[in-house]
Amino acid sequence: MAYSLPSHPFNFLLLTLNLIDYTSLYEHLAVSPLESWLDVLPVQIQQAFDSKRHGDLDEWMLTLKAFPRVQPSSIDLNSSVIRVGTPGDISPRDREALEQALQSFHPWRKGPFDLFGIHIDTEWRSDLKWDRLSGAISPLAGRRVLGIGCGSGYHCWRMLGAGARLVIGIDPYLLYVIQYQAIRNFIGDVPAYVLPLGIEDLPENLEGFDTVFSMGVLYHRRSPFEHLLRLKDLLRVGGELVIETLVIEGDEDAVLVPEDRYAKMRNVWFIPSPAALTKWLKRSGFKDVELVDVTSTTTEEQRSTAWMRFESLTDYLNPENPSQTLEGYPAPRRAILIAKR
Ligand code: SAH
Repeated sequence: MAYSLPSHPFNFLLLTLNLIDYTSLYEHLAVSPLESWLDVLPVQIQQAFDSKRHGDLDEWMLTLKAFPRVQPSSIDLNSSVIRVGTPGDISPRDREALEQALQSFHPWRKGPFDLFGIHIDTEWRSDLKWDRLSGAISPLAGRRVLGIGCGSGYHCWRMLGAGARLVIGIDPYLLYVIQYQAIRNFIGDVPAYVLPLGIEDLPENLEGFDTVFSMGVLYHRRSPFEHLLRLKDLLRVGGELVIETLVIEGDEDAVLVPEDRYAKMRNVWFIPSPAALTKWLKRSGFKDVELVDVTSTTTEEQRSTAWMRFESLTDYLNPENPSQTLEGYPAPRRAILIAKR
């Protein structure tokens, strides 16, 4: 199948910088059930970069371009810390330059990563979430996987490490795409990609992924059923959904709709109980719905660090009663469910 980048003045700059080259992704898609996505994807990616082209993006791209060229002697995608290279692979001068460049991509929310001994201690210990789900989901070996709202792509690396044949993460926030690219720069052209797209940008009836992850996204959507139906539509028949979201305690009709903010977040719409989410999934046509885990978020899992210097969980909780948010709602508790299409 033939595809080409649209002609556009910015192409010149992007191609010259050659920082985010998705050619190998397009080659993978061309021989997959997702082939029809190629009709729109290159243009969508181009438009996403163009529409968000501003001072920061240009700066980030130049920073990426100026990364020291270092070959990692080892890569570990199967441990809590995504580890690329060792301190011995890099000169002290390059290490300092790289650390400064990585710090300029602040805030780092999802991780952790270790690049040549530079430990990126992210706001979230995303490995803890991975530990809660990895034993319960269908093994990823050989599967084509989509991660919606993947942030920096930490879990995308874990999916690749687990043997997935193709991993595609999407996140509309460009800084996270850049953070992903910063790691990928040293890992190489492997079949794991993060694209600057939102779920609303995905074409209908793709029906081509073996596993779809929606983690930390449902409560940001204004229409939960529309989200669940979109997720179903991305899966092949028999494919697996892994969904993670904020939950409250309660029966199958228990749902919290915050009056305004929840834990200082403006964009939280629906927080169901695990039983309610189970019912929603069944109502949306999913089968074999299974609750895998319910865990209250701790300040060990989510906290401010040198790599995320803004407020974090402690600042969102009532100091007199940390079982409640500042607004008086139940403190964050999250559930993981799996289901089949
Ligand atoms: N999945 C990761 C990150 C969750 S944070 C994890 O579980 O750790 C939620 C992410 O969703 C953010 O990175 C945010 O940028 C992204 N997001 C926001 N709106 C989105 C949309 N419309 N489509 C896809 N992702 C979105």
